[in-house]
Amino acid sequence: MKKEDSIKGIFSEIGTNTCVVAVSKTKPDEDILAVYNQGQRIFGENKVQELEGKYERLPKDIKWHFIGHLQTNKVKYIAPFVSLIHSVDSLKILRVINKEAVKNNRVIDCLLQIKIAEEETKFGLSKSEVKHILSSPDFSELKNIQIKGIMGMATNTDDKIQVKSEFSELKRTFIEIRDSFFQDKDYFSEISMGMSHDYKIAVEEGATLVRIGSKIFGERVYH
Ligand SMILES: *Cc1c(COP(=O)(O)O)cnc(C)c1O
Repeated sequence: MKKEDSIKGIFSEIGTNTCVVAVSKTKPDEDILAVYNQGQRIFGENKVQELEGKYERLPKDIKWHFIGHLQTNKVKYIAPFVSLIHSVDSLKILRVINKEAVKNNRVIDCLLQIKIAEEETKFGLSKSEVKHILSSPDFSELKNIQIKGIMGMATNTDDKIQVKSEFSELKRTFIEIRDSFFQDKDYFSEISMGMSHDYKIAVEEGATLVRIGSKIFGERVYH
């Protein structure tokens, strides 16, 4: 299947309430440009250095989303241009993002990554950790970040029922957090969930952003 066909196929399946983040990690510039030329403008990367290089070389109207685990000492490299950070998992990293946003005279949009999968390895916050962060006085001081919603990754399994229940739990968590902390804040509106193998379920369960890599770009080859 040609790349153009794969991205158009995805758009026809997901409808207009969900945005596609084309996850271009490990892929060369020319592959990204091919998808860009089909009209895609949101791309996702999970390595700071790789993202920096691609930002420098590729068209400036691309909205770059950071989806990987972010270390505090690397925030400064993406702070000038990153459009959304999906993977915030501590107050400490939020403070650093805020500090770098101040230096760049901008507000950086973020999602809180919530742990929904049963695997030990997945990063993310528990519901009680989220509540702790959002109710702390420190958090209210951070004027140069905006929490736009939450992100989660389901367990990597073929069990569709399990995946569906994890996504529906994430949606409930979203509503709970919104009602407790963002009641009249329209910007708290994003649920980032679903990847190549489970995005259809995620869309059914209310994803506003799906992060799709291999289904658009082909399988990744790691050297
Ligand atoms: C790589 C990655 C994706 C995309 O994975 P695919 O299975 O290729 O669609 C989505 N989200 C995160 C956090 C990733 O690291």
